[in-house]
Amino acid sequence: MEKLSNPQKTIEIIQKYHFNFQKKFGQNFLIDSHVLEKIIAGAGVTKDDFVLEIGPGIGTMTQYLAEAAREVYAVEIDKNLLPILAETLSPYDNVTVINEDILKLDLNKVAEEKNQGRPIKVVANLPYYITTPIIMGLFENHVPLDNLTVMVQKEVADRMKVGPGTKDYGALSLAVQYYAKPYIVANVPCNCFMPRPNVDSAVIRLTRHEKPPVEVGDEQLMFKLIRAAFNQRRKTLVNAVTNCGELDFSKEQVQKALETVGLSPTVRGEALYLDQFAKLTDALL
Ligand code: SAM
Repeated sequence: MEKLSNPQKTIEIIQKYHFNFQKKFGQNFLIDSHVLEKIIAGAGVTKDDFVLEIGPGIGTMTQYLAEAAREVYAVEIDKNLLPILAETLSPYDNVTVINEDILKLDLNKVAEEKNQGRPIKVVANLPYYITTPIIMGLFENHVPLDNLTVMVQKEVADRMKVGPGTKDYGALSLAVQYYAKPYIVANVPCNCFMPRPNVDSAVIRLTRHEKPPVEVGDEQLMFKLIRAAFNQRRKTLVNAVTNCGELDFSKEQVQKALETVGLSPTVRGEALYLDQFAKLTDALL
């Protein structure tokens, strides 16, 4: 079958199935073959790989993945896309399409059952409304990952690389620094999609660290503290942590921990580096 990665073929298939784009699912389909080639090369997909694709859409990227990988597991939430995918992916016998919400799927189980627990590759043009929960979920749940190569908003790609003192610094920046090494594979202008998004995009590859750059006694607690800090980023860390329903520390405990690690009792979480969050976590254990 002819590739979908051009505007004419995309329009043709969409019209054939009377498909309506759903904004709530972040549907912006790629229509540029050069970008697709860069993504596959950037992810380093080979015939040994089991690839998870999040949101195959009409199957544009899936076709490229099917040709490059051993097996592709594509998870799509929109059931209206299933008949389209059945047609566009019919030439490939190494693709499985699942109609599910990626945030509800047990991906450790998928990796265990489909790839004997060996590291998988994740390649996706992500739905932008859930970029952060998808990426943080994959890392925090310790899904065995080789790398994650994803299209995100340019601004989000930038946010992954910043530190304290910028408004973009947040939980995602810290999760990425802790778990992975980021590399920008390509910058992608909005005219490479149909319909065009309002923002420019970037493909970022996150390669999992074999060992995180800091040691911490309780990783889950550290990320609860980080989330609490940035959910209320204008509050002092003491207030943000004690207001957070997920955590059960008194003001005195947090103040004492801050003192132990040499931080001011009025510091905001947004001023802390990753190693300071790690030390604070250990002081609270
Ligand atoms: N991969 C296609 C491409 O590059 O042309 C489509 C990418 S489009 C930006 C995002 C896709 O993710 C859409 O097909 C959308 O329906 C799907 N999607 C949105 N939310 C999802 C979710 N929670 N779980 C799985 N798929 C989702």
